[in-house]
Amino acid sequence: MEASNHYDAIVIGAGPAGLSAGIYLSRARRRTLIVNEGTVGGQMILTHEIANYPGVENVSGYQLANIMKKQAKSFGCDIKSNTEIEQLDLSNKLKSLTLSDGKKFTAESVILSPGGRSKTLGVPGEEAFKGRGISYCATCDGDFFTDKEIVVIGGGNTAFEEAVSLTKYASKVTLAHKSSRFKASDHAIREAQNNPKIHFIMDSAVTSFFGNERLESLEIKNVTTNETTQFKTDGAFIFIGYTPNTEFLINLVSLNNLGEIVVDSDMGTSIEGVYAAGDSVAKRFRQITTAVADGTIAALAASEYINQKTNKSV
Ligand SMILES: Cc1cc2nc3c(=O)[nH]c(=O)nc-3n(C[C@H](O)[C@H](O)[C@H](O)COP(=O)(O)OP(=O)(O)OC[C@H]3O[C@@H](n4cnc5c(N)ncnc54)[C@H](O)[C@@H]3O)c2cc1C
Repeated sequence: MEASNHYDAIVIGAGPAGLSAGIYLSRARRRTLIVNEGTVGGQMILTHEIANYPGVENVSGYQLANIMKKQAKSFGCDIKSNTEIEQLDLSNKLKSLTLSDGKKFTAESVILSPGGRSKTLGVPGEEAFKGRGISYCATCDGDFFTDKEIVVIGGGNTAFEEAVSLTKYASKVTLAHKSSRFKASDHAIREAQNNPKIHFIMDSAVTSFFGNERLESLEIKNVTTNETTQFKTDGAFIFIGYTPNTEFLINLVSLNNLGEIVVDSDMGTSIEGVYAAGDSVAKRFRQITTAVADGTIAALAASEYINQKTNKSV
């Protein structure tokens, strides 16, 4: 193994969690490599406008991602993007990683920050109107729908809680659910039912989205009668579940039954020297700020671990 292929820390995933970890580790003079499957920035680059990242006004996700990337690189962090992990071995003291181009790297510590993805309906028009009327995040986009009429799709706790939270902005919220029964808790259902702004369409599956520049309507199919109707709307929020990008970690670290990485308060995983951060960990609130905070904690804990292991102080 060439010395240049050995790092103090390898970070997997270059979303806000991984980039923050890279910034903190590199600034602490830890030799750090970030590897990322796609374009640097993660879910941030899917966001046209970020209005809730403190200290930065009117920024696009792409711009914010590039600022974080530049900051990490300025401290000497190496970043390999658009690459895939061929093999990952976390079982030994020295962790090792092989990329799809055959290059092998080792590290004292690893930070896992592969993020996640909202489940999609997979129906026509959904992809085209993502970010142009279709959203998967009420905290991120609710404000853009002030005084508008919107549809919330889903029947679990998240759909109900977010429908209630969206009534702060929207003039009318229609909750569409494909079954006649909800999966949400009684409390969440009662709260939504008692809210005069929320209306319900049951037994109704959304089958298509339509519009021009932005979403204008959706098609709803009644699953008992098969009758389809066109429903005018200014926006649609889809809350049908969330999938962490942790398939490659099965049997490597402890995951819960939702596939989320189980961590302690220092973001430590079930494996010594392996930390996790961001949307892929078991937690309730998934935002850029929470990912950045996780990445910071994971980096500081990893740095301390490397220090103890190698007697390298900063
Ligand atoms: C449309 C949209 C709008 C949003 N708007 C906002 C907003 O306005 N404000 C806000 O605070 N939050 C917003 N969010 C949420 C926010 O983007 C996420 O909470 C945050 O990006 C999570 O950061 P992360 O670093 O944990 O993961 P991610 O951003 O998901 O990044 C993970 C990275 O890891 C990479 N990766 C995955 N698997 C592997 C692997 N096996 N090997 C290597 N790399 C891998 C991915 O390609 C990705 O680049 C929005 C999310 C979406 C989808």
